[in-house]
Formats: sequence, structure tokens, C-alpha cells
Amino acid sequence: MSTQIQTNVALAPYTSFGVGGNAEKFANPQSADELITLLKEHRSEQISLLGYGSNALISDEGVPGLTILLRSSHIEVNGDEIIADSGVWWDDVVTTAIKNDLWGIELLSKVPGSLGAALYINIAAYGQTIGPRVKWIDVWDSDTHEVRRLEASALTWSYKQSVFQQPEMKKLLIVRACLHLSRQKTDELTYQKALDIAEEKHLNPDDLVERRDIVIEARRRAGSLWHPSDTSARTAGSFFRNPLVTAEQADAIIAHDESGLAADVIRKMNQAHGGDALRVSAAHVMLAAGFQRGQILHDHVRLHEKNLLKLETLPGAKAREVYEAMRHIQKQVKDTLGIDLEPEVKLLGKF
Ligand SMILES: Cc1cc2nc3c(=O)[nH]c(=O)nc-3n(C[C@H](O)[C@H](O)[C@H](O)COP(=O)(O)OP(=O)(O)OC[C@H]3O[C@@H](n4cnc5c(N)ncnc54)[C@H](O)[C@@H]3O)c2cc1C
Repeated sequence: MSTQIQTNVALAPYTSFGVGGNAEKFANPQSADELITLLKEHRSEQISLLGYGSNALISDEGVPGLTILLRSSHIEVNGDEIIADSGVWWDDVVTTAIKNDLWGIELLSKVPGSLGAALYINIAAYGQTIGPRVKWIDVWDSDTHEVRRLEASALTWSYKQSVFQQPEMKKLLIVRACLHLSRQKTDELTYQKALDIAEEKHLNPDDLVERRDIVIEARRRAGSLWHPSDTSARTAGSFFRNPLVTAEQADAIIAHDESGLAADVIRKMNQAHGGDALRVSAAHVMLAAGFQRGQILHDHVRLHEKNLLKLETLPGAKAREVYEAMRHIQKQVKDTLGIDLEPEVKLLGKF
């Protein structure tokens, strides 16, 4: 049965920011197989994909062509491997892994969004990233109009980057993927705030189930939990990518930190979020550039009260205001520190 196509559908309710205009055309396939059939039937359309909209800013002018909202619940376990459709809620993959005593993605517990976007972004949290766990990914190639399998050897991953974000690879739409996990612990938990929670709550960071509980509590305290049913927290997580800076810039930025933590602890925290020695937290950069938690940036846009890196929309916000707040932050950071901040959030439609 063909997936129904609707026209002029509001996309704001399908995003965590809750802003933006309409999709010219809209479809919501419920499995990878339905997605492939839909893509075959609409091969000449301009396609935009949306998972759970937790890392996307939709233009007020809407999105031209066909926007496909991905939803699926199809997950299979085969030994140490998990195969799932791209529209599966990411945390369902994590809970499946934990139920099956599989390590390798537990530190990515409760990162909101779909499996497909998790791969597109190469999600990172508490020292883990999804990329190294990938065995293969099935993609729809919009040039050849067919599905093909990319093995791990054809894929490269770096900080919040995948091959799929490269301009010439945007033609590849992720349909399903296979993750290869481990019966043994793959990573140490080194993030200090999480270790403090473990001690406070008497949880063992080397027990798979308790490790997940520690991460969830750390995320709760950082304001980093979100679910599509949650309409109160209107952020897209970290708005900016952590920038690469010189050693001098890194020291100057860390010197502005107000947490009271030692410089080497802060450096370790940066690395735990997917950075390296010279990749500093964009939150620290914003702090050093003079921004404050809870600061109002536009009539309906402010910085999150716990986490500087989260832009938050207030009721009545427009996508244009978020965009202008982004440009304002980029300019102030450039003018004061000489650093270019790049958005991690993906802009869909015209800005
Ligand atoms: C409160 C909060 C906390 C967060 N914490 C973290 C965190 O700890 N670590 C982290 O890395 N991220 C974090 N994020 C960001 C977000 O969770 C991830 O980027 C997630 O992968 C987005 O998934 P999504 O399905 O919502 O993507 P969407 O916002 O729907 O889409 C994001 C991008 O992916 C593309 N895309 C979606 N599906 C596919 C597909 N199948 N094939 C190709 N491209 C596709 C879209 O076109 C778009 O460009 C957080 C967000 C929020 C709101």
C-alpha cells in the first residue's frame, strides 16, 4: 500500500524547537520498506528527511518538495548485532542493547532522535560515539534510485561528522543500519559529573544497567532529556559544534570557566563530549565571549538556564528569531575571541 501524501502540513509540531512553516508535501512511512517504496514512487521529487526534529530548525517559509517524517519500530537482534530501521527512536536501540547485555552504546542513552539522524550526525555523549559501532548502513541513492549497502570500511567518522554530511553525499538517505556491539565493556566512563552521581547514588559505572541510570541522571541534571511528548523543553540540544582553537585560545577560554573545576578536568570534559585537546566546548567559548545562562537573545529566544549551548524558543517564537540569535552569537564570539562557531543544528528550508 502506498504511503499517503499530504500537502501544506505544519512541521513545527514535529520539531523540538516548535517553530517553522509548512512542508509543501508530506509523508510519514512507518517502516524502512515503506520508505523505500515511497522513494521509488517519488524519485523526481526534492526530498527532505525529518526524524524526530530534535536537531533541526525549519524555515518560517517552510520546506519545498516532499518532506518525509521517519517513524518505525523495527529492531532485530542477531547475536552481537542490532539491525534497525532509520526511523526507530534511538533510545529504543540502546535499551534493546542493554536488555541483551550488549555494550558500546550505553553512554549514548537518551540522546533524543532517530537512528538515521544519529548516524547522519554521528551523535556523541559521555565519551562514546555511534560511528565506530556501525557494521553496515543501507542507503537510498537519490542519483541511481536504488538501495545499496555501505560497509564499515566505506565510512569515516569524526567529531559530530559522517560522510552523509558531505555535500556530494547528501544524495544518500539512510534507510536502515546494523550495529556491531560487544559482550564486554568497550569504554570507561570518565566524565567527572557522572562519576560524582555514581558515588552519590551508590551506582556502579561498570555495571551496564547502572551505567545507563548514571548517564540518564547526568543528562537530567544538565537539562539534556527530551521526548517528542515533551512540549515544555524547546531546544535542539547543543546549538553549536565545539570549535577547534589554538592552544592559547583554549587556555584563555578555560580560564573564563565559572564551574570552579580544575583546567585539566575541564579539558577531559570537553573530550568526553567528543572533542580532542584543542576542541573546546562551545559553551565555554560563549561564556568567555560574555554570554550568560538564561540570557534573553530575542523576544522569544533565550539561552537555557542550565546549559549555555542550548538556544531555547519561547511560545510565539519564529524560526527567523532563532536564526538571528545564532548570527548574533556567532558575531560576538568572532569579534571578541576571533573564533568561528558553526551550528550543529541543521537548517531546513530557506534562511
Ligand atoms: C535536549 C536535547 C539533548 C541532546 N543531546 C545530544 C547529545 O548528547 N549528543 C548528540 O550528539 N546530540 C544531542 N542532541 C541532538 C539530537 O538528539 C541529535 O542530533 C539526533 O541525532 C537528532 O535526531 P532527530 O531524529 O531528531 O533528527 P532531526 O532533527 O529530525 O534531523 C537532523 C538532521 O538529520 C537528517 N536526517 C534525519 N534522518 C535521516 C536519514 N535517515 N538519513 C539521512 N539524513 C537524515 C535531517 O535531514 C536533518 O538534517 C540533543 C538534542 C536535544 C533536543
